[in-house]
Amino acid sequence: MLIVMRPDAAETDIDRVLDVIETLGFRGHVMPGENRTAIGITGNKGSVDPTHFENLRGVAQAIRVTKPYKLISKELRPEKSVIKVGTGTIGGDELAMIAGPCAIETREQLFAAAEAVAASGARFFRGGAYKPRTSPYAFQGLGVEGLKMLAEVRDQYGLNIVTEAMDERGIDAVEEYGDCIQIGARNMQNFSLLRYAGRAKKPVLLKRGLSATLDELLLAAEYLMAEGNYDVILCERGIRTFADHARNTMDLSIIPAVHRLTHLPIIVDPSHGTGHNYMVTPLARAGVAVGADGLIIEVHPKPEEAMCDGAQALTLEQYADLNGQVISLYKLINAQVAEPVSG
Ligand code: PEP
Ligand code: MN
Repeated sequence: MLIVMRPDAAETDIDRVLDVIETLGFRGHVMPGENRTAIGITGNKGSVDPTHFENLRGVAQAIRVTKPYKLISKELRPEKSVIKVGTGTIGGDELAMIAGPCAIETREQLFAAAEAVAASGARFFRGGAYKPRTSPYAFQGLGVEGLKMLAEVRDQYGLNIVTEAMDERGIDAVEEYGDCIQIGARNMQNFSLLRYAGRAKKPVLLKRGLSATLDELLLAAEYLMAEGNYDVILCERGIRTFADHARNTMDLSIIPAVHRLTHLPIIVDPSHGTGHNYMVTPLARAGVAVGADGLIIEVHPKPEEAMCDGAQALTLEQYADLNGQVISLYKLINAQVAEPVSG
Protein backbone atom coordinates (compact mmCIF):
# COMPACT_ATOMS: atom_id res chain seq x y z
CA MET A 1 0.00 0.00 0.00
CA LEU A 2 1.15 3.46 -0.87
CA ILE A 3 -0.47 6.62 0.43
CA VAL A 4 -0.13 9.67 -1.80
CA MET A 5 -0.70 12.92 0.07
CA ARG A 6 -2.27 16.00 -1.53
CA PRO A 7 0.21 18.74 -2.45
CA ASP A 8 -1.29 20.97 0.29
CA ALA A 9 -1.21 18.28 3.01
CA ALA A 10 0.11 19.56 6.34
CA GLU A 11 2.78 17.94 8.50
CA THR A 12 0.04 17.02 10.99
CA ASP A 13 -1.87 15.19 8.22
CA ILE A 14 1.22 13.10 7.51
CA ASP A 15 1.64 12.37 11.22
CA ARG A 16 -1.97 11.21 11.42
CA VAL A 17 -1.43 8.77 8.54
CA LEU A 18 1.72 7.47 10.26
CA ASP A 19 -0.25 6.99 13.50
CA VAL A 20 -2.87 4.90 11.71
CA ILE A 21 -0.15 2.81 10.02
CA GLU A 22 1.49 2.20 13.40
CA THR A 23 -1.80 1.31 15.07
CA LEU A 24 -2.31 -1.34 12.41
CA GLY A 25 1.10 -2.78 13.38
CA PHE A 26 2.91 -1.70 10.19
CA ARG A 27 5.73 0.71 9.40
CA GLY A 28 5.34 3.95 7.43
CA HIS A 29 8.11 5.37 5.23
CA VAL A 30 7.75 9.04 4.35
CA MET A 31 9.13 10.01 0.92
CA PRO A 32 8.92 13.72 0.28
CA GLY A 33 8.83 14.62 -3.42
CA GLU A 34 8.86 17.80 -5.48
CA ASN A 35 5.07 18.05 -5.75
CA ARG A 36 3.73 15.73 -3.10
CA THR A 37 4.74 13.46 -0.25
CA ALA A 38 4.09 9.73 -0.47
CA ILE A 39 4.12 7.22 2.39
CA GLY A 40 5.08 3.60 1.78
CA ILE A 41 3.79 0.89 4.12
CA THR A 42 5.86 -2.17 5.00
CA GLY A 43 5.42 -4.95 7.52
CA ASN A 44 1.98 -6.02 6.29
CA LYS A 45 1.58 -9.70 5.45
CA GLY A 46 -1.49 -9.43 3.22
CA SER A 47 -3.06 -6.47 1.48
CA VAL A 48 -3.99 -3.39 3.50
CA ASP A 49 -7.55 -2.07 3.34
CA PRO A 50 -7.41 1.37 1.65
CA THR A 51 -10.49 2.57 3.54
CA HIS A 52 -8.27 3.06 6.63
CA PHE A 53 -6.68 5.99 4.84
CA GLU A 54 -8.96 7.28 2.10
CA ASN A 55 -10.94 9.63 4.30
CA LEU A 56 -8.07 11.01 6.34
CA ARG A 57 -7.33 14.71 5.86
CA GLY A 58 -4.66 15.46 3.25
CA VAL A 59 -4.77 12.02 1.61
CA ALA A 60 -5.11 12.11 -2.19
CA GLN A 61 -4.98 8.38 -2.90
CA ALA A 62 -4.32 5.01 -1.29
CA ILE A 63 -2.81 2.75 -3.95
CA ARG A 64 -2.29 -1.02 -3.80
CA VAL A 65 1.25 -1.95 -4.86
CA THR A 66 1.33 -4.94 -7.18
CA LYS A 67 5.11 -5.14 -7.73
CA PRO A 68 7.33 -7.05 -5.28
CA TYR A 69 9.15 -3.82 -4.37
CA LYS A 70 7.64 -0.75 -2.81
CA LEU A 71 10.10 1.77 -1.47
CA ILE A 72 12.51 1.80 -4.40
CA SER A 73 9.69 2.33 -6.88
CA LYS A 74 8.88 5.35 -8.97
CA GLU A 75 5.27 5.15 -7.81
CA LEU A 76 6.46 6.12 -4.36
CA ARG A 77 8.80 8.84 -5.62
CA PRO A 78 8.45 9.86 -9.29
CA GLU A 79 11.51 12.11 -9.30
CA LYS A 80 15.07 10.84 -9.02
CA SER A 81 16.65 10.63 -5.60
CA VAL A 82 19.77 12.68 -5.09
CA ILE A 83 21.85 10.91 -2.47
CA LYS A 84 24.05 12.94 -0.17
CA VAL A 85 27.43 11.28 0.43
CA GLY A 86 29.53 13.35 2.83
CA THR A 87 29.80 16.79 1.20
CA GLY A 88 28.95 15.48 -2.29
CA THR A 89 25.88 14.13 -4.03
CA ILE A 90 25.18 11.19 -6.34
CA GLY A 91 22.22 11.26 -8.72
CA GLY A 92 22.13 15.03 -9.18
CA ASP A 93 23.19 17.14 -12.16
CA GLU A 94 26.85 16.13 -12.07
CA LEU A 95 28.48 12.85 -13.04
CA ALA A 96 29.71 11.38 -9.74
CA MET A 97 33.30 10.20 -10.03
CA ILE A 98 34.56 7.74 -7.41
CA ALA A 99 38.16 6.62 -7.88
CA GLY A 100 40.97 5.09 -5.89
CA PRO A 101 42.84 1.83 -5.44
CA CYS A 102 41.22 -1.56 -5.09
CA ALA A 103 42.88 -1.98 -1.69
CA ILE A 104 44.67 0.30 0.71
CA GLU A 105 48.22 -1.05 0.74
CA THR A 106 50.54 1.65 2.09
CA ARG A 107 50.30 5.30 3.05
CA GLU A 108 52.47 6.29 0.06
CA GLN A 109 50.29 4.36 -2.40
CA LEU A 110 47.08 5.74 -0.90
CA PHE A 111 48.13 9.39 -0.80
CA ALA A 112 49.64 9.29 -4.32
CA ALA A 113 46.30 7.97 -5.62
CA ALA A 114 44.31 10.48 -3.55
CA GLU A 115 46.33 13.43 -4.80
CA ALA A 116 45.62 12.48 -8.42
CA VAL A 117 41.93 11.80 -7.76
CA ALA A 118 41.51 15.14 -5.97
CA ALA A 119 43.35 16.96 -8.77
CA SER A 120 40.89 15.52 -11.32
CA GLY A 121 38.03 17.29 -9.53
CA ALA A 122 36.38 14.06 -8.31
CA ARG A 123 34.42 14.36 -5.06
CA PHE A 124 34.71 10.70 -3.97
CA PHE A 125 37.57 8.37 -3.12
CA ARG A 126 37.45 4.57 -2.91
CA GLY A 127 39.82 2.06 -1.32
CA GLY A 128 39.17 -1.26 0.36
CA ALA A 129 40.24 -1.94 3.93
CA TYR A 130 38.29 -5.22 4.01
CA LYS A 131 38.82 -7.21 0.81
CA PRO A 132 36.64 -10.13 -0.25
CA ARG A 133 39.30 -12.37 -1.81
CA THR A 134 38.71 -15.69 -3.51
CA SER A 135 41.71 -17.25 -1.74
CA PRO A 136 42.02 -17.10 2.05
CA TYR A 137 45.79 -16.77 1.54
CA ALA A 138 45.53 -13.60 -0.58
CA PHE A 139 45.94 -10.10 0.93
CA GLN A 140 42.79 -9.41 2.96
CA GLY A 141 43.19 -5.67 3.55
CA LEU A 142 44.52 -3.50 6.37
CA GLY A 143 41.26 -3.33 8.34
CA VAL A 144 40.77 -0.43 10.74
CA GLU A 145 44.35 0.81 10.12
CA GLY A 146 43.33 1.29 6.49
CA LEU A 147 40.11 3.07 7.44
CA LYS A 148 42.08 5.49 9.58
CA MET A 149 44.26 6.31 6.58
CA LEU A 150 41.14 6.92 4.49
CA ALA A 151 39.89 9.36 7.12
CA GLU A 152 43.21 11.19 6.79
CA VAL A 153 42.70 11.34 3.03
CA ARG A 154 39.33 13.00 3.63
CA ASP A 155 40.89 15.52 6.00
CA GLN A 156 43.71 16.36 3.61
CA TYR A 157 41.88 16.42 0.26
CA GLY A 158 38.20 16.89 1.13
CA LEU A 159 37.34 13.68 -0.72
CA ASN A 160 34.31 11.70 0.47
CA ILE A 161 35.18 8.12 1.34
CA VAL A 162 33.44 5.07 -0.16
CA THR A 163 34.69 1.76 1.26
CA GLU A 164 33.48 -1.81 1.59
CA ALA A 165 32.21 -3.56 4.70
CA MET A 166 31.89 -7.34 4.72
CA ASP A 167 30.28 -7.93 8.10
CA GLU A 168 28.50 -6.10 10.90
CA ARG A 169 31.69 -5.04 12.66
CA GLY A 170 32.93 -3.69 9.35
CA ILE A 171 29.76 -1.67 8.92
CA ASP A 172 30.22 -0.10 12.36
CA ALA A 173 33.82 0.77 11.48
CA VAL A 174 32.99 2.19 8.04
CA GLU A 175 30.20 4.22 9.63
CA GLU A 176 32.77 5.67 11.99
CA TYR A 177 35.56 6.46 9.51
CA GLY A 178 33.96 6.59 6.05
CA ASP A 179 31.15 8.42 4.27
CA CYS A 180 29.53 5.58 2.31
CA ILE A 181 29.24 1.86 3.08
CA GLN A 182 29.95 -0.32 0.05
CA ILE A 183 28.19 -3.69 0.00
CA GLY A 184 30.14 -5.83 -2.45
CA ALA A 185 28.83 -8.12 -5.17
CA ARG A 186 29.44 -11.20 -3.03
CA ASN A 187 27.24 -9.83 -0.26
CA MET A 188 24.39 -8.44 -2.32
CA GLN A 189 22.09 -11.16 -1.05
CA ASN A 190 23.49 -11.38 2.47
CA PHE A 191 20.11 -10.40 3.85
CA SER A 192 21.08 -10.07 7.51
CA LEU A 193 23.98 -7.78 6.49
CA LEU A 194 21.58 -5.74 4.34
CA ARG A 195 19.24 -5.34 7.29
CA TYR A 196 22.13 -4.20 9.46
CA ALA A 197 23.32 -1.70 6.83
CA GLY A 198 19.71 -0.56 6.55
CA ARG A 199 19.95 0.62 10.14
CA ALA A 200 23.24 2.48 9.60
CA LYS A 201 23.34 6.24 9.43
CA LYS A 202 25.50 6.41 6.31
CA PRO A 203 24.52 5.91 2.65
CA VAL A 204 25.06 2.53 1.02
CA LEU A 205 26.61 1.72 -2.36
CA LEU A 206 25.04 -1.61 -3.32
CA LYS A 207 26.90 -3.57 -5.98
CA ARG A 208 25.07 -6.03 -8.20
CA GLY A 209 25.67 -9.68 -7.32
CA LEU A 210 27.80 -11.89 -9.56
CA SER A 211 24.73 -13.35 -11.23
CA ALA A 212 21.90 -11.23 -9.86
CA THR A 213 18.85 -10.35 -11.91
CA LEU A 214 17.39 -6.85 -11.98
CA ASP A 215 14.65 -7.89 -9.55
CA GLU A 216 17.16 -9.41 -7.14
CA LEU A 217 19.21 -6.20 -7.17
CA LEU A 218 16.14 -4.05 -6.58
CA LEU A 219 14.89 -6.29 -3.79
CA ALA A 220 18.30 -6.12 -2.11
CA ALA A 221 17.94 -2.32 -2.18
CA GLU A 222 14.43 -2.75 -0.80
CA TYR A 223 15.94 -4.59 2.23
CA LEU A 224 18.07 -1.53 3.01
CA MET A 225 15.18 0.88 2.61
CA ALA A 226 12.69 -1.22 4.55
CA GLU A 227 14.99 -0.75 7.58
CA GLY A 228 14.87 3.03 7.12
CA ASN A 229 18.03 3.73 5.13
CA TYR A 230 16.78 5.53 2.03
CA ASP A 231 20.23 6.64 0.87
CA VAL A 232 21.02 3.84 -1.54
CA ILE A 233 23.12 3.96 -4.72
CA LEU A 234 23.09 0.95 -7.06
CA CYS A 235 26.12 -0.22 -9.03
CA GLU A 236 26.47 -2.35 -12.17
CA ARG A 237 29.82 -4.15 -11.96
CA GLY A 238 29.45 -6.87 -14.57
CA ILE A 239 27.99 -10.35 -14.28
CA ARG A 240 29.18 -13.89 -15.03
CA THR A 241 28.45 -15.16 -18.52
CA PHE A 242 30.04 -17.68 -20.91
CA ALA A 243 32.19 -14.89 -22.38
CA ASP A 244 35.79 -15.26 -21.27
CA HIS A 245 37.50 -12.32 -22.99
CA ALA A 246 36.69 -10.14 -19.97
CA ARG A 247 36.55 -10.80 -16.23
CA ASN A 248 32.80 -10.15 -16.28
CA THR A 249 30.24 -9.07 -18.84
CA MET A 250 29.03 -5.52 -18.33
CA ASP A 251 25.28 -5.51 -18.56
CA LEU A 252 24.70 -1.92 -19.53
CA SER A 253 21.07 -2.49 -20.45
CA ILE A 254 20.36 -2.59 -16.74
CA ILE A 255 20.94 1.18 -16.51
CA PRO A 256 17.82 2.29 -18.45
CA ALA A 257 15.88 -0.61 -16.89
CA VAL A 258 16.79 0.66 -13.40
CA HIS A 259 15.93 4.26 -14.30
CA ARG A 260 12.54 3.09 -15.55
CA LEU A 261 11.61 1.35 -12.30
CA THR A 262 13.29 3.18 -9.48
CA HIS A 263 14.14 6.65 -8.26
CA LEU A 264 17.53 5.42 -6.97
CA PRO A 265 20.72 6.42 -8.81
CA ILE A 266 22.93 3.80 -10.45
CA ILE A 267 26.63 4.01 -11.20
CA VAL A 268 28.88 1.80 -13.34
CA ASP A 269 32.10 0.00 -12.38
CA PRO A 270 34.03 -0.72 -15.59
CA SER A 271 37.08 -1.88 -13.57
CA HIS A 272 35.51 -5.03 -12.12
CA GLY A 273 33.15 -5.13 -15.09
CA THR A 274 36.00 -5.81 -17.51
CA GLY A 275 39.09 -6.78 -15.48
CA HIS A 276 41.39 -5.33 -18.13
CA ASN A 277 43.13 -1.98 -18.11
CA TYR A 278 42.56 -1.38 -21.84
CA MET A 279 38.80 -1.96 -21.58
CA VAL A 280 38.13 0.37 -18.65
CA THR A 281 37.99 3.71 -20.48
CA PRO A 282 35.83 2.52 -23.42
CA LEU A 283 33.33 0.89 -21.04
CA ALA A 284 33.36 3.95 -18.78
CA ARG A 285 32.32 6.03 -21.80
CA ALA A 286 29.64 3.46 -22.62
CA GLY A 287 28.29 3.62 -19.06
CA VAL A 288 27.94 7.39 -19.28
CA ALA A 289 26.31 7.07 -22.71
CA VAL A 290 23.55 4.79 -21.36
CA GLY A 291 22.74 7.13 -18.48
CA ALA A 292 24.85 6.12 -15.48
CA ASP A 293 24.81 8.65 -12.63
CA GLY A 294 28.47 8.07 -11.91
CA LEU A 295 31.48 5.81 -12.28
CA ILE A 296 33.68 3.94 -9.83
CA ILE A 297 37.19 3.41 -11.15
CA GLU A 298 40.23 1.60 -9.74
CA VAL A 299 43.48 3.54 -10.00
CA HIS A 300 46.97 2.76 -8.70
CA PRO A 301 50.20 4.76 -8.82
CA LYS A 302 52.02 1.54 -9.83
CA PRO A 303 49.48 -0.98 -11.17
CA GLU A 304 52.22 -3.55 -11.81
CA GLU A 305 52.93 -3.65 -8.05
CA ALA A 306 49.28 -3.74 -6.89
CA MET A 307 48.40 -6.37 -4.28
CA CYS A 308 44.90 -6.70 -5.66
CA ASP A 309 43.30 -6.23 -9.10
CA GLY A 310 46.41 -4.74 -10.73
CA ALA A 311 45.37 -5.90 -14.23
CA GLN A 312 42.36 -3.62 -14.23
CA ALA A 313 43.89 -0.62 -12.42
CA LEU A 314 44.45 2.57 -14.41
CA THR A 315 47.63 4.57 -13.95
CA LEU A 316 47.11 8.05 -12.54
CA GLU A 317 47.67 9.53 -16.02
CA GLN A 318 45.18 7.16 -17.60
CA TYR A 319 42.64 8.11 -14.96
CA ALA A 320 43.08 11.83 -15.68
CA ASP A 321 42.50 11.10 -19.36
CA LEU A 322 39.40 8.98 -18.66
CA ASN A 323 38.02 11.66 -16.38
CA GLY A 324 38.36 14.35 -19.05
CA GLN A 325 36.65 12.15 -21.62
CA VAL A 326 33.67 11.12 -19.51
CA ILE A 327 33.01 14.62 -18.16
CA SER A 328 32.94 16.00 -21.74
CA LEU A 329 30.70 13.16 -22.85
CA TYR A 330 28.33 13.65 -19.93
CA LYS A 331 28.02 17.36 -20.66
CA LEU A 332 27.43 16.72 -24.34
CA ILE A 333 24.72 14.14 -23.72
CA ASN A 334 22.94 16.19 -21.09
CA ALA A 335 23.04 19.40 -23.13
CA GLN A 336 21.45 17.49 -26.02
CA VAL A 337 18.84 15.89 -23.80
CA ALA A 338 17.97 19.30 -22.33
CA GLU A 339 17.77 21.02 -25.75
CA PRO A 340 16.64 18.49 -28.31
CA VAL A 341 17.70 19.26 -31.85
CA SER A 342 14.67 20.55 -33.74
CA GLY A 343 13.60 19.26 -37.11
C1 PEP B 1 35.68 -3.74 -5.11
O1 PEP B 1 35.01 -2.76 -5.42
O2 PEP B 1 36.88 -3.68 -4.79
C2 PEP B 1 35.06 -5.08 -5.20
C3 PEP B 1 35.56 -6.12 -4.53
O3 PEP B 1 34.00 -5.10 -6.02
P1 PEP B 1 32.89 -6.25 -6.29
O4 PEP B 1 32.19 -6.45 -5.01
O5 PEP B 1 32.04 -5.60 -7.35
O6 PEP B 1 33.62 -7.45 -6.80
MN1 MN C 1 38.97 -4.52 -6.89
